Order: sequence, then structure tokens, then C-alpha cells
Amino acid sequence: MTQTHDAKVLPFQPRPRREPRPHVLVVGAGFTGFYTAKHLARLLPDEAADITVVSLTDHLTYSPLLPEVAAGTLDPHLIAVPLHGTLGRARTVQGLVDEVDFTERTVHVVRTHGPEVTIAWDRLVLATGSVTRLLPTPGLREIGLGLKTLAEGQYVHDHVLRQIELADATDDPRERRALLTFVVVGAGYAGTETAAQLQRMTVQQIARFPRLTPDDLTWMLLDLSPAVLPELGPRLGAYALRVLARRGMQVRLGTTVTEMTAVGVTLSDGTRVATHTVLWTVGVTPPPLVERLGLPVQRGRLVVDDHLRLRVDVWAAGDSAAAANPYDERGLAYPPTAQHAQRQGRTIAVNVAASLGHGTPRRYLHHDLGLVADLGGWRAVARPFGIPLTGVLAKAITKGYHLLAVPSPGARLRIGANWLANQLTRPPATQLGFVDPSDARLGAAEHDEPPIASVD
Ligand SMILES: Cc1cc2nc3c(=O)[nH]c(=O)nc-3n(C[C@H](O)[C@H](O)[C@H](O)COP(=O)(O)OP(=O)(O)OC[C@H]3O[C@@H](n4cnc5c(N)ncnc54)[C@H](O)[C@@H]3O)c2cc1C
Repeated sequence: MTQTHDAKVLPFQPRPRREPRPHVLVVGAGFTGFYTAKHLARLLPDEAADITVVSLTDHLTYSPLLPEVAAGTLDPHLIAVPLHGTLGRARTVQGLVDEVDFTERTVHVVRTHGPEVTIAWDRLVLATGSVTRLLPTPGLREIGLGLKTLAEGQYVHDHVLRQIELADATDDPRERRALLTFVVVGAGYAGTETAAQLQRMTVQQIARFPRLTPDDLTWMLLDLSPAVLPELGPRLGAYALRVLARRGMQVRLGTTVTEMTAVGVTLSDGTRVATHTVLWTVGVTPPPLVERLGLPVQRGRLVVDDHLRLRVDVWAAGDSAAAANPYDERGLAYPPTAQHAQRQGRTIAVNVAASLGHGTPRRYLHHDLGLVADLGGWRAVARPFGIPLTGVLAKAITKGYHLLAVPSPGARLRIGANWLANQLTRPPATQLGFVDPSDARLGAAEHDEPPIASVD
């Protein structure tokens, strides 16, 4: 066939309009949101739906290793798993959802960079996790330090090192004692791990200061409950207590802090303790957005059914949601742990895909595999499949569990290498001072204040 020049000039053909596709919107990219988006991208063919994740950060924070960031044994980057490149074709919008409209099916997003936007959805997944539980204790918001975000973890590390440096610089023995007194409130797994690992760090690092000795340090771990690590049972709690006591930690059970000021705390038994450091790890609660939704809650968590469904076309899971746990004899919901959040994320992906005609929905059923708690050094406690383990064996299981659970082969390699290096050399002790103190205040760090939007 001969082709004339004219035949090459094709009339303008607008690209055929794409059929509008359902839009799945996931709020939060912690364990629940990350695994929901990742599995949805695999389960749904490209043309079946668009997937968007709205997240305050561009990474998943592997929070079970936050105590190691605070203790300086892991660099914060290592536990920040990037969303880009790991969530398949899901799109990420960085910002805070401050409003959900269930009638119009939209969310309003205050972006961390760029103008505010309203995004429409057809399927919504609320995976907003939790923030540190605050009590009306005077001084808590101004003085207390939390450990829920990477910024907080790094700030706590810098702050503790700064106290040692200031103590070395002062000639006032009372001030030195106050600077070297550290109070941790809350002896659950987060508080106990943090206290144990930070105390070891201070003992190791104080050797760099010839004017100071480990005897100058005072560490206190307080809890209103009668045991440490209640999540791991009395036997492992008693073991952890012995390890901590041997290291010189003052563990005061049945005791809490009733007031905090810039120069010290008052304990519930009336004792006054001069200190400039109070770590607040008394548990978690869903973020303020959850309360604003005005939906039924159980201990602040959204009540969902056994398919993790909140309403038609809306699902919720992880720390933000309470799903009935048929395995719990006390009738409590599944506990707020990464183990459940991650698996619930996968279940939601299956159920959202099923709602779009791909596959069949399923119930969330998961028997707890047990918890682990790293006490620093060669000590840990672990309860895999209900078997209580202590010492080096528990330590190996704890490390192995985290290495497998971090959702990135690169991060696993780097974390493993870091741990190895820590065995051969003393971890560095440098305050980088990158974190603005205002970002580490309990309120701001855990975003009950929206980020300031900037247009750039
Ligand atoms: C120090 C520490 C140690 C821990 N150790 C363990 C352990 O050993 N084992 C274990 O199983 N669990 C552990 N946990 C608990 C575990 O980290 C949580 O249960 C888990 O992170 C819950 O996952 P999630 O997806 O519900 O929430 P998260 O992982 O908290 O993620 C929620 C995400 O949503 C974002 N977000 C919140 N609100 C909004 C909004 N309005 N708009 C946009 N984004 C929003 C947050 O920024 C966050 O990124 C530990 C927690 C801490 C703090």
C-alpha cells in the first residue's frame, strides 16, 4: 500500500476517557496502613481501583525498636521503612487527615508540604494508630518525654547524653545529682525496655567522663501496678525485676508521679525527687481524630466487627480499633500490638478487595504468638507460643523476631550489621541536636496539633 504524506496527518484524537475507578483511601501508614496498602496493591488488578495512603510521614516507623534509638544502639534511619518503592502502585500523600465526612465520602488533609486538599473515597481504611496516653498530671505536657515517634526517640537520646555532659560540667553536687537522676513512668514493655536499655547506655557512656562514676547515676522505674511487664506474665516479670535490681535500677511499684516541674517530681507516696528527666510510657490511646468521628468506642478504640468493618465501606484496625478477641477469656479486645496491627492490615486488604468483587471476605482470627522484651546487654524475656524464656535464648529470639518482622530486606541487613558493630565497639555518644525541642513535647510530637502547612 502506498502512503501519501497526508495520510500521516491524523486527526486529533483525545485519549479515550478512563472509566472512573473506585478509590481506596488508607489513613495512616503504620503497621496496619502499610500492610493494607501493600497487600491491596497485590490483590487488586491495576484497573480495579486507585489506592492512596495519607500519612504524616513518608515511612513506617518500626516502633518496637524505638528504645534502641533512644539508647543510641540503632540509628533512627534504620527503623524508618520508606513507603515509596515498598507499597507497589499505591500513591502517598504526606499530611494529617483532620476531618472525615462519611456522607460526602471525603477526607480533609492538611498536607505537610503544599496546600490543604479534600480527597474523595469509595472505600476508607482508618489506620491511625495511637498516641501516648496523657493524664491530668500537672506539668506532664511541658516536662514529660514520650517515646512513640522517631523524633521523640532521637530527642530522648540527646537529652540523656546532655544531662551527663551538664553533670560533668557543674561543680554543684546537688545539681549534678539531679542531672543524673532519670525517672521512667510506666513499666509495661515499652517503659521497661526503654529504662533497661537507657540505663545501660548511661553506665557505658559515663566511663567517657573521668569526673563521673556509675554510682552517681540514679534510675527509677515507677508503675501503679504491682508488677513489671504484666503483658509477659508474673514469672518473666519477676525475672526482669531481678535483672533491673541487680543493675541498680530502683523499681517502685504501686507508685506514680503526681506532679512534675522543671526541677523535679513528686511521687504518689509524697517523696520529692530532684530530676530533669521524666520519661512517660504509661500506655497508648487513639489520636484525637478518632474521638472526633463520634462513633462507638471501647476504651477510646473504634468498635469494629469480626471482619474489621466499621461501617459500610469503612474499615479500621490496629491500635485505633477494638475487635473482639475470641481467644481472650476476660472478653477483652485484641491488644494494641504490632503483631495484630500487621495481620489486621492484611485482613482488611482481603476484605476491601472482596468488596470490589475480587476474592471473598474473611474474619480476623489470630492467636497471640507472644511478646518479647529486650533488657539490653545479653538479657531479654520472651514468650513465644506461651513458652516463657529468659537470658541469652530469649535475647536471640528477640533479635531474630525483630529482624524477620522489619518489612524491608535492606533495613534488616543494616540493623543486623549495626547490632554486630555494637558487639565489637561501644555505640557512639553524640548529641546531634537535630530535633527541635518543641517537636518532642508530648502534645506536638504526637500530632494532636496539625502540622503547619506550607506552600512550596
Ligand atoms: C516503644 C514501643 C515499643 C513497642 N514494642 C512492641 C513490641 O515489641 N511488639 C509489638 O507487637 N508491639 C510493640 N509496640 C506497639 C506497636 O508499635 C503498635 O501496636 C503498632 O505500631 C500499631 O500499629 P498501627 O498501624 O495501629 O499504628 P502506628 O504504627 O502507630 O501507625 C499509625 C500511623 O498513622 C499516622 N496517623 C495517625 N493519625 C493520622 C492522621 N489523622 N492522618 C494521617 N496519618 C495519621 C501516624 O503518624 C502513624 O504513622 C511498641 C510500641 C512502642 C511505642
